[in-house]
Amino acid sequence: MDKQQYINEAEEALLHTYNRFPLVLDRGEGVCLYDTDGNRYLDFAAGIAVMALGYSNEKYKQALKNQIDQLTHTSNLYYNVPTMEAAQKFLKVSGMDRVFFTNSGAEAIEGAIKAAKKYAYTRDGHADHEIIAMNHSFHGRTLGALAVTGNAHYREPFEPLPGGIRFADFNDLDSVKAQITDKTCAILFETVQGEGGIYPATEQFVEGIAALCKEKDILLILDEIQCGMGRTGKMFAWQHYDIKPDIMTSAKALGCGVPVGAFAMTERVAEKSLVPGDHGTTYGGNPFVGAAVSAVLDIMEEEHLTEHVEKISGYLSEKLDDIAEKYDFITAHRGIGLMQGLVSEKPVGAIASECLKEGLIVITAGTNVIRLVPPLIIEEKHVDEMAEKFERVLSRI
Ligand SMILES: *Cc1c(COP(=O)(O)O)cnc(C)c1O
Repeated sequence: MDKQQYINEAEEALLHTYNRFPLVLDRGEGVCLYDTDGNRYLDFAAGIAVMALGYSNEKYKQALKNQIDQLTHTSNLYYNVPTMEAAQKFLKVSGMDRVFFTNSGAEAIEGAIKAAKKYAYTRDGHADHEIIAMNHSFHGRTLGALAVTGNAHYREPFEPLPGGIRFADFNDLDSVKAQITDKTCAILFETVQGEGGIYPATEQFVEGIAALCKEKDILLILDEIQCGMGRTGKMFAWQHYDIKPDIMTSAKALGCGVPVGAFAMTERVAEKSLVPGDHGTTYGGNPFVGAAVSAVLDIMEEEHLTEHVEKISGYLSEKLDDIAEKYDFITAHRGIGLMQGLVSEKPVGAIASECLKEGLIVITAGTNVIRLVPPLIIEEKHVDEMAEKFERVLSRI
């Protein structure tokens, strides 16, 4: 079949919930993807910040193959070794005390919300608590995750959503303070807003909220689904600040392509939170995904990926500064580590499409941001190639 035929047949079979780029991807190697016609693409999107190790990492593939031969699923009614190891490794790098593995990011958010509500319920002896979330946030597409997502366009058709959510402005401590009531049990935000347009939280905001939470026994929930797992140069973005969340979420690069997420918490929260009967999942944390998480964490440690990100992101950031300087319709550059955004006055969808013609994959965020979230293994030569291809597009668009 040729490419157009594949696309037509996919469009006939799949529910049309995405306007997809006309690309039929076939295989990946390192930082590159290849389509069914054999065309090569330099990938600065990494399957939306998932493929941190790039494509076809030998050690990762071997771990998955071995686990497929051994055991893929048991349910959570029993113990299994890979998930026990994955949990220990996750707690070690996060500094959390207890973790629950989910099947996706949205489900990790659902779990985090339930964990916070249960904590407040146990503490106060009654329900009816509130959570403060941020405008322009993104936490996923399930109903609970939508309830804390500050984007009217995503929410409207599905209202009423679960209640007890108040919205404040990201990086505006006073706007958060204004939403606090006697019922507030948690404050939730992305340490770096991703879909909203690549906005890192300021130190003043993060540390101000953490202090506020401590003072009022409000739980701080950080969504590290996109910005975690080494992407910002630390294992988790909150580790750039002098704070520790009470609950945090992870997903995306946690399994590097295997569907897995997690919510984790400190012992102080766990003591008053979810107990048998409160929460569950059939697939979540099965031996197959456990082996994936375990391999990802091992490889990241062995290859010193966070240190690598810290180094290479400086190089990428300089290139992007140069680009922002050179083209007057690129009005801003912001980001941290390998989570970078360029604000464009020209349509970002068109720019991303033109990049494909040059063999470069980039994605967008918000309405006017080109988002670069490459595999964490990129090297200077990949940054150079990206800049060359990207500039060819910018100079003709
Ligand atoms: C992608 C994302 C989610 C949702 O994850 P899914 O796996 O798509 O459900 C939640 N929060 C953030 C910050 C994300 O980037």
